[in-house]
Amino acid sequence: MEALKTFESGVLTEERPGAVKPPADLWKRHKGGLVIVECPQRIPCNPCNTSCPAGAILDFNDINDLPAIDYEKCTGCALCVAKCPGLACFVADLTFGEGSALMKLPYEMLPVPAKGDSVKCLGRTGETVCDGRVENVTEPHKDRTRVVHVSIPADKVNDVRAIRVV
Ligand code: SF4
Ligand code: SF4
Repeated sequence: MEALKTFESGVLTEERPGAVKPPADLWKRHKGGLVIVECPQRIPCNPCNTSCPAGAILDFNDINDLPAIDYEKCTGCALCVAKCPGLACFVADLTFGEGSALMKLPYEMLPVPAKGDSVKCLGRTGETVCDGRVENVTEPHKDRTRVVHVSIPADKVNDVRAIRVV
């Protein structure tokens, strides 16, 4: 019953199939970052798979399948971040700097931040996790979402999932 309640809340609170983190040894040395996918519910959706130019998000047998990743193929390009309608894909680059990481986060709000801005970095329930610095903003193309690149303390990559412009 408790597990059902957690699931219905829409907030990911535990490791589940479809919520996929990179393997630690590859993640810490992979320049450009690796994708994190937090999509644990079976829904008819697959743009993460169809947008990935590297074949890192494995083909679905069924449109309702949960995403599965071949991390040896992921380049951290963040095209899936821009295409996922559920805002469930993120990229984290642990090689960005000493003690810091670069998060590539989907962003559909206004105002749009600019490079160099300080922003509040938020967790899954909208709580403030830490401060971040905007390093880049990719403009949306066609039906894609804007992607904001934010540098944060490296130990926050499993917590930061959004930003708030201050
Ligand atoms: S970050 Fe790029 S290479 Fe990695 S899964 Fe997403 S689209 Fe594919
Ligand atoms: S595109 Fe996003 S919401 Fe759709 S299956 Fe992939 S990760 Fe889930």
